[in-house]
Amino acid sequence: MLDAVLAAGEPTQAGIAAATGLAPATVSNIVRDLCREGRLTASTAVRGGRRVRAVRLTPLPGVVAGVDFGHRHVRVGIAGAAATGPVEDDGATRLLAERGADLAEGHDAAVGLDAAVALLDEALAAAGTARAELLAVGIGLPAPVDARTGAVGEPGILPGWVGIRPATVAAERFDAPVVVDNDALLGTLAEQAWGALRGIEDGLYLKLSDGVGAGLVLGGRPYRGRSGTAGELGHVVVDDSGGPPGGAVCRCGNRGCLETWASTATVVGLLEPLLGAPLTVDEVVARARGGHAPSRRVLADTGEHVGRALGGLCSILTPARIVVGGELAQAEELLLDPLRGALERWALPGAADGVEVTTARLGRHAHVLGAVALALDHVLATQL
Ligand SMILES: [Zn+2]
Repeated sequence: MLDAVLAAGEPTQAGIAAATGLAPATVSNIVRDLCREGRLTASTAVRGGRRVRAVRLTPLPGVVAGVDFGHRHVRVGIAGAAATGPVEDDGATRLLAERGADLAEGHDAAVGLDAAVALLDEALAAAGTARAELLAVGIGLPAPVDARTGAVGEPGILPGWVGIRPATVAAERFDAPVVVDNDALLGTLAEQAWGALRGIEDGLYLKLSDGVGAGLVLGGRPYRGRSGTAGELGHVVVDDSGGPPGGAVCRCGNRGCLETWASTATVVGLLEPLLGAPLTVDEVVARARGGHAPSRRVLADTGEHVGRALGGLCSILTPARIVVGGELAQAEELLLDPLRGALERWALPGAADGVEVTTARLGRHAHVLGAVALALDHVLATQL
């Protein structure tokens, strides 16, 4: 019954009876007992213009933290430990405090964790709480995390972290249980809990940044795969130029991977000879919006390469919605229109019909919120 309450957010007793198949009188008895034990909280809600009695999981008295590591940054967010709530909960309002810092490229795991611990304490203080109230920490890394061993694998953008078991190491530093996953999957969890993947049974979140990665939702559940590398769309070869092996060499050791065509580094690198270095994605998008043809060309070509790789994925998975996040998503239709065209061109006829392609809703908060969602999942699993 607690599972049914969690899934529905704030159901009525009739709703619980329908979801569990239990008799209404039985539901009523159990709800009364659970309310008395303090595990459920009853309240009056309005449904269809009528006042009804609804119940929800009683929020635990405490907070969770979400930690998002990039290859050059770390951000920490603090959120209340209430269960994922009703529809008006948009995630961002759930963050009590957020702090961030820059990290050196290629930093060691120990340096990154030191910075995260300092930011955690700052954010806890800003949220008016303390380590003793911390129930769990979710950590996102831009690298695959092996589900069996918990170790960070390759190919990763974080060479200083390979082989480390971050959940074990970080739990000692944070004095709290730690759960770790890769950042594209965390973007997926956040969009699923509060954003553009809410209520979508089969969909994917695509992160277009320094790295290119996807997080899959299949049958309503995030899909992690066997070794934590599921969704590495950035390392699907989209062009090896035919004949002998060609295409740019990728950091994964292959040639012609999508990531060599469609990362922020590629976009900026193609335009720096024209516009001067250093160039940022923000500047490229601003110029493209102002009509700068080379910038528009590069963003359109990026969308086409991504659409081609997604076309293959659509043929296999036939998702209902594709959500594009990461730094390059700010190009919006300049990138998404060519992406949609290529998706239709390269997918099996019919497989891409009706696939919605939209930008992510949670923007720059997405990965911190995903780490928060991961921590909340852990707390709720323990609570249940
Ligand atoms: Zn690669």
